[in-house]
Amino acid sequence: MSEFSLQLNEDQLQIQKWIHDFAEGTIRPAAHEWDEREEFPWPVVEEAAEIGLYSTDFLLNAMGDPTGITLPMAVEEIFWGDAGIGMAIMGSALAAAGIAGNGTPEQMMEWVPQCYGTAGDVKLGAFCVSEPDAGSDVSSLRTRAVYDEAKDQWTLNGTKAWITNGGIADVHVVVATVDPELGSKGQASFIVPPNTPGLSQGQKYLKHGIRASHTSEVVLDDVVVPGSCLLGGKEKLEAKLAKARNKERSGKQPAMATFEATRPAVGAQALGVARAAYEYSLEYAKERHAFGKPIIMNQAIAFKLANMITEIDASRLLIWRAAWLAKNGQFVNGEGSMSKWKASEVAVRVTEEAIQILGGYGYTREYPVERWHRDAKIHTIFEGTSEIQQLVISRAISGLRIE
Ligand SMILES: Cc1cc2nc3c(=O)[nH]c(=O)nc-3n(C[C@H](O)[C@H](O)[C@H](O)COP(=O)(O)OP(=O)(O)OC[C@H]3O[C@@H](n4cnc5c(N)ncnc54)[C@H](O)[C@@H]3O)c2cc1C
Repeated sequence: MSEFSLQLNEDQLQIQKWIHDFAEGTIRPAAHEWDEREEFPWPVVEEAAEIGLYSTDFLLNAMGDPTGITLPMAVEEIFWGDAGIGMAIMGSALAAAGIAGNGTPEQMMEWVPQCYGTAGDVKLGAFCVSEPDAGSDVSSLRTRAVYDEAKDQWTLNGTKAWITNGGIADVHVVVATVDPELGSKGQASFIVPPNTPGLSQGQKYLKHGIRASHTSEVVLDDVVVPGSCLLGGKEKLEAKLAKARNKERSGKQPAMATFEATRPAVGAQALGVARAAYEYSLEYAKERHAFGKPIIMNQAIAFKLANMITEIDASRLLIWRAAWLAKNGQFVNGEGSMSKWKASEVAVRVTEEAIQILGGYGYTREYPVERWHRDAKIHTIFEGTSEIQQLVISRAISGLRIE
């Protein structure tokens, strides 16, 4: 067990500087172009792979850090550079987390590296849970997985919605229903290996923000995968289904286990965007003159900035606490959800205030703050909306099934 400390260790400080330099020198300068093009930023992700930032090793090292803080710290720096490109770099981590959360160690060793590829041959992963009629309500998934005992293979059918890297990924991790009568307890996660027939990209969504990140429908039409692609294996699934049928309390459903583990990192994404907007507007407020003085000399502007940095620091404290607790204790009052909820709402407010501080310039696409505002908003929606985070916290503090 590691002690909770706000002091980053030597390793962490080095990683922080390394990523910050990459974010400042490579990600941030490319941000406007890829936002306008609304395309996956392959050259930037390839550069991230060249330096080892987009890699299985980096992810596993960061996830293995006993303080838990390396991952959110790294994510904050990447997203400080740009959230759209940041999602392009981090999207595969969600698939990797889905594999790590539900798979055996052997499945992890086999499939996580295939979500990343190598520096000269970059691959992508996608984590496919949401469906057109089931986003927050993951118990209503309609995608079906049917087992053929004789052939030891599963056939998947359904449509997944809003999938990061959907259709362009090499490895798709798909959550499907194996027993519809059991709701979320009747679900399992499957690997769909590269080039499996029947998996195709549906519509690509045009988005409000994080436009460099690719988001698509994924259509599964008689997708056949071998029994070995069931994450966790058949025996574990059978035991879980039997428990659920006997109405015993079983483990958490696959999708939720992944989301819980990734929430502090998603909060850190929002934090990076908020910090970018705060730093930019602070500098601007010191330089921009109105009525013969810098606009920061007005309390109306200075207090906005005071509020922004206070909220940003409060968010980071919640994120680091949650990340540390995830490794060294356990969540008691929905601390993972608290951190994601707080940071995402703060990011929306802070980026809006940044536009206000930049005035007319802030509203134009010549300046980055309007992009940051668009990029901030997704964080109150994906990986559990703000309302769902509040539901998780409410249930944790009350022990009641608040609706
Ligand atoms: C850019 C982007 C990337 C995404 N990437 C992925 C991905 O990689 N993989 C993946 O599986 N999914 C992904 N998603 C999907 C995302 O997780 C869902 O959109 C999200 O969970 C919300 O689900 P929904 O859109 O169906 O909204 P709904 O569940 O329909 O919610 C609509 C509104 O109702 C509220 N609401 C719903 N239920 C309750 C309740 N019980 N109490 C109070 N309020 C409630 C919600 O908070 C929200 O405000 C992505 C989405 C986007 C936009």
